[in-house]
Amino acid sequence: MEASTAESAVAATLESNAPENPAAPFSLELSQDQKDIRDWVHGFAEGVVRPAAAEWDEREETPWPIISEAAKIGLYGFEGIAQFWGDETGLMLPIVNEELFWGDAGIGMAIMGTTLAVAGIFSSGTPEQLAEWVPQCFGTPDDPKVGSFCVSEPDAGSDVSSLRTRARYDEASDEWVLNGQKAWATNGGIAKVHVVVATVDQELGSRGQAAFVVPPDTKGLEMGTKVKKHGIRASHTADVFLDDCRIPGACLLGGKEKLEERLARAREGTSSRKQAAMSTFEASRPTVGAQALGIARAAYEYALDYAKERTQFGRAIIENQSIAFTLADMKLEIDAARLLVWRASWMGRRGMPFEAAEGSMSKLKAGEVAVWATERAIQILGGNGYTREYPVERMHRDAKIYTIFEGTSEIQRLVVSRAISGVHIR
Ligand SMILES: Cc1cc2nc3c(=O)[nH]c(=O)nc-3n(C[C@H](O)[C@H](O)[C@H](O)COP(=O)(O)OP(=O)(O)OC[C@H]3O[C@@H](n4cnc5c(N)ncnc54)[C@H](O)[C@@H]3O)c2cc1C
Repeated sequence: MEASTAESAVAATLESNAPENPAAPFSLELSQDQKDIRDWVHGFAEGVVRPAAAEWDEREETPWPIISEAAKIGLYGFEGIAQFWGDETGLMLPIVNEELFWGDAGIGMAIMGTTLAVAGIFSSGTPEQLAEWVPQCFGTPDDPKVGSFCVSEPDAGSDVSSLRTRARYDEASDEWVLNGQKAWATNGGIAKVHVVVATVDQELGSRGQAAFVVPPDTKGLEMGTKVKKHGIRASHTADVFLDDCRIPGACLLGGKEKLEERLARAREGTSSRKQAAMSTFEASRPTVGAQALGIARAAYEYALDYAKERTQFGRAIIENQSIAFTLADMKLEIDAARLLVWRASWMGRRGMPFEAAEGSMSKLKAGEVAVWATERAIQILGGNGYTREYPVERMHRDAKIYTIFEGTSEIQRLVVSRAISGVHIR
């Protein structure tokens, strides 16, 4: 990995995203560089992540030593992420995610959860805000940190237009004052940098919201209950309380002038924010889909090997069509999902309009394939598959989150059906 300062990596990322540098044509033939990065991440997933997966799943704790190792080799940190994001085909980010989550999804999320906060800063922040906050989300290889992106609330999950967290501007001190409760925040309360979405003008619904950076050690931000989960248990999830949490005026992502212009447009009914938010989600969903693919592929490969070795009735169980055809279907579904993920990633990188909500399609398909394929893997392993002695049980628990977070499967279907029909389906 090339060494560069965080600031120059920020600049390089911005430059490589500029419209005069359009993305490469779509191709399934990976470049040597892409193959090298894929193999490098795979090596880390195989050698470091996978052997530690069961332990951290049982401990239900953030695997700091592994985050640290990822940071030392340049996989965790702004420079690595900037390089993956900067890839002009758009395929590098899903490839890296698939390989890492092939190793383990809980540890994968502990490593990649920070990119949610980074994406939040990236989608709304100014270049100066990016340069200031993104490197802080990651810390340094010797002292790694994590970031958290806090949108969901106890009463606002799928319906993010109903956020109750408020942001009030105090002109006298040039500070924003945040009050509210965030729910389900990945890295919530343990993050160095929290990116919080709050309502500035309640009457405008989601068009009256803005994103804020809450700097490290800000008074008034407290971690609530840490959630005990079904899967991805090495990834920390918790409520976050904001109680008269005062942050500098400059922590409003995008700046006050832009916010006021946006609010004025929304009040006049000429806001384009909904479309902007939609393309941001569409562009980030394939990466989440790629994580699900990593789990699905790991379960498929495990089940394939097992089916060749396990004998019943004097022959390997794979010699039965019912097992062999299941494995064929698993491979088929995983590859089909990957094509959707890669297409949407490439479209996002190229800035193409998502006319059929292709980003949502890819996350929906990959998430559901992961749940289905991991369940089939348990079936192929029989009783062994149902025990914690074999990894497919954990993979199935991990896979389930992919039909829930980053937009549930129902919400993805809503988005796709509205996009293809033009009808406001409920
Ligand atoms: C492990 C984990 C990590 C998370 N990390 C984060 C994070 O880092 N940051 C963050 O902000 N959030 C995070 N979330 C929150 C996550 O995004 C929400 O859980 C998700 O959006 C669903 O919201 P909800 O749980 O309130 O479910 P609800 O919105 O209450 O949905 C319940 C059910 O109703 C269905 N439903 C709701 N509305 C409709 C509709 N209009 N049509 C059809 N069906 C509908 C849903 O699909 C679902 O099946 C995380 C959640 C989990 C579990």
